[in-house]
Amino acid sequence: MSAQGETANIGKVLSFLREWDRGDRAARGRMLNTFLCQNKGKSCYELECEFAQVSSLFLARLTTWMRLTYMFGTLLGLQLRAIRVFLSASGHDQYVMEFLEDGGVLSLLDILNHTQSKEEDKTEALRLLLTVSNAGRNYKEIICESNGVKVTAECLAKSNTEETQETASALLESLSHGNPKYQSQIYKSLITLMTCSSPKAQHLVLHTVRIVQSKMKTAHHSIVEPLLNMLTSIHLDIQDEAINLILDLKGFDVRPIILSGLVALLRQAREEIKSQEITEETEMTASLPVFVQQAAAAKAIRLLAEGNQEISHDLLSLGVIQCLLSALGNREHTDAQVQASLALEHFVRSFPVIEEHVQRVMGSTLFAAFMHKPDTLYMNLDETQAEILLNNKADILSKGCEFQFCVGDKQEDKYSASLTMSHLRSALHKSKRSGLKMVETAKPQRKRTKRAVKEEETMSAASPSSYHTFPDPADVVQLRSQLLNWYDKEKRELPWRTLALTELDLNIRTYAVWVSEIMLQQTQVATVKDYYNKWMKRWPTVQDLSTATLEEVNQMWAGLGYYSRGKRLHEGAQKVVTKLKGQMPRTVDGLLKELPGVGRYTAAAIGSIALGQVTGVVDGNVIRVLCRLRAIGADSTSPAVTEALWTLANTLVDPERPGDFNQAMMELGARVCSPKAPVCSQCPVQSHCHSYSKVIVKQDQNSKKLFGKQERKTLAVPDIEDCLSRGTCPLCPSQPWDDDLGVQNFPRKPAKKPPRVERTMTCVVIRRREEGEDEYLLTQRPDKGLLAGLWQFPSLVLEEENSEIKQKRALCTEINGILETHVTESLLQYIGEVVHIFSHIHQTYVVHIVHLKDSATQTQTKNVQWLTRSALQEAAVSTGVKKIVKLYDSLDNHKEKTSKKAKKQNISDVETAKKPQTSKRGAANSRGRQLSLSSFFQTVKEES
Ligand code: SF4
Ligand code: ZN
Repeated sequence: MSAQGETANIGKVLSFLREWDRGDRAARGRMLNTFLCQNKGKSCYELECEFAQVSSLFLARLTTWMRLTYMFGTLLGLQLRAIRVFLSASGHDQYVMEFLEDGGVLSLLDILNHTQSKEEDKTEALRLLLTVSNAGRNYKEIICESNGVKVTAECLAKSNTEETQETASALLESLSHGNPKYQSQIYKSLITLMTCSSPKAQHLVLHTVRIVQSKMKTAHHSIVEPLLNMLTSIHLDIQDEAINLILDLKGFDVRPIILSGLVALLRQAREEIKSQEITEETEMTASLPVFVQQAAAAKAIRLLAEGNQEISHDLLSLGVIQCLLSALGNREHTDAQVQASLALEHFVRSFPVIEEHVQRVMGSTLFAAFMHKPDTLYMNLDETQAEILLNNKADILSKGCEFQFCVGDKQEDKYSASLTMSHLRSALHKSKRSGLKMVETAKPQRKRTKRAVKEEETMSAASPSSYHTFPDPADVVQLRSQLLNWYDKEKRELPWRTLALTELDLNIRTYAVWVSEIMLQQTQVATVKDYYNKWMKRWPTVQDLSTATLEEVNQMWAGLGYYSRGKRLHEGAQKVVTKLKGQMPRTVDGLLKELPGVGRYTAAAIGSIALGQVTGVVDGNVIRVLCRLRAIGADSTSPAVTEALWTLANTLVDPERPGDFNQAMMELGARVCSPKAPVCSQCPVQSHCHSYSKVIVKQDQNSKKLFGKQERKTLAVPDIEDCLSRGTCPLCPSQPWDDDLGVQNFPRKPAKKPPRVERTMTCVVIRRREEGEDEYLLTQRPDKGLLAGLWQFPSLVLEEENSEIKQKRALCTEINGILETHVTESLLQYIGEVVHIFSHIHQTYVVHIVHLKDSATQTQTKNVQWLTRSALQEAAVSTGVKKIVKLYDSLDNHKEKTSKKAKKQNISDVETAKKPQTSKRGAANSRGRQLSLSSFFQTVKEES
């Protein structure tokens, strides 16, 4: 351009700017429209030519005017578009810089924040910000520093036009590129946005999160919950995007939470169905979000597991199979069934052991249909089959049917799962059979085919008759609820129950329940309470117990019986501390494997009460309740009955409150369904009790006999079925029903072996020390066997063939072997007999005493000690020894009462012929002194 031309152009621009400055709103509106028509799409160079190299003067005017007027919306749209002409002019970021310097970004953010702003103005403002953001890292940082991320995110969440939402999403995405300083802030804002309600926004956010996540090195844990919640969406594009994000996240450390969350979603839908069944609410609709979520979770599980064996293993260890089977039985939502079926197919085809189990659950016909076309299996499911699949959880996790998966070339058992489908299979058969049975009942004479008979025989051998199980899941649900309601009202407050409920530290809680369960083995609750409190006070943690000595443990245990239990607890505590780094096992299998003295029952009890593991328990009380409930009358110690009882317990246990349910069963057995005096009238589960029904039926039959043929219509008799397999059934009683016993016909035990009768000669050996205090000789029992490691007076089991004098002599030899003395049988003074009954031994102690003059009498071995009266009181001695002490005491009392001179009377000390090396000191001090039995036993009296 010539100099003359340039001058003319400058004149034109200055005139334009003067017109702008003087112009009113209408004039400026016209000018803006003209500007837009003439300059839209021009480059920076072209604009500069047009505006005589001073175009910035107009941009500055625009920016300032916008800042002053945006709140009133005055020609805001035109202003924004005009500014965009500058900012988007290619080739230079000069305008962007100038715009920022004039506070343009702040104005744009204010427009987004302003509630009165029009939607299209917001969109335009977002576009401008996007242009600024795309200009480079510094500009992104300026937007973020000005709170741009939050404002944009809110705009995205609250906006009601797709255009605005899309632009806001694009801006967030742009801000996240090449902006490491604010990347994490943007990522977290996006996670927060995942909870927004607008479907369009959800989809955009998910899309953007995926882009941002792909640039992140880690995934934030807060992403999981909103992500899984998005699976409730009925919008397929959102579900797909959410599932894609789940797949993206499989390489991050949030994977375990996502996997367990997905499995929980499968389970949650089942609980939803159950709760609606119970509350009898209105019909469920197929669109219930929880079912939609279940379907999406099943799909995500399949996509995650396919082609990734490690994820498949993780899912198996989370119990995915039972949940998929359950989802397959959800007839409220076809898509959940289809997706679960497809996911299940993956596991079945990948793991032969799963194939085997699923086949057993479904039965061969249904399984064949499943393998042929898994996506249409739901069409082949009848109501009963669906119901059984739906409620399969407790059954599948009920027993230890472990399997191992081969990972690479290494056998790993960490994924071993407790899967047994036997009960489910059995229930399935039962349900089918109960249908068959109804037909048979209607036509009793109908002849069964040979095949049917054979099938029934096979089933009978493999699984118990439905009479002895709970084939109807509805009954199980009802029984759980009745029993738990009763327990909630009636349960006793016991120290270990309180600890199990209130102790948050899993190690301490598991330890506390372990101690209580070991103490309660063979010992009554009332006795255990005090011991338990003292024990937990002294050793509140497993670490504390591990540092105790066995002697201290035995002392604490003294009087509780079955002393090896305390020893095993002690050994277990040391093992936990040394081998398991102080961590109590976290599973039933772990408890069983690691803790000495913990068997199937104890492991299941600790696992369910302390760790919430879904497993039933079978102890004496539970055996009685279950045998009565299901009329199981065969020998309750036989393997068939034992297995049947465990299966029953695992079927019944409440998956939500396994610990409470198990304690409720035991409490019911202890307080209502007691061995000798069951109170059926107060029983919460009476309506499920076959024994009780039997009693009513028998009473009715007897009353009919009494009244001849006349029916007693007033007596309501339940219509009870009986075991179809009687005669061959391994659970039915072999003895006939006894009217006098009533419900106590169940359970039946084999005839008890009579206890072994044993007589033990024992001798209280006393010496007086020079300080005047008496001491008593105690010897320690062997480490193993009855009363292992406890202290006792020297004793010898009597042998029938030997004469009394011979036995006394043997006892003297024993005492002389311990001490350096020479006690003869004539010196042993008989004072009486004490009877103590162990579970298998009827023990009689024939008690003697002997007093030694020599207070320095030496002991020869380390398992022997002289104890003062107070030390004796503290020592780990058995109840039998305490009874002997009491006998002594009563003898002394009698003497004191019958003789006024008793206090002065000296009981002649027994002369002992000392061996040459013994000390003379004791003999000198003890000779001629009266032995005070009352002082010796004073403490025992106080104790008793
Ligand atoms: Fe026991 Fe009687 Fe209850 Fe049956 S009804 S479970 S026999 S208390
Ligand atoms: Zn039977």
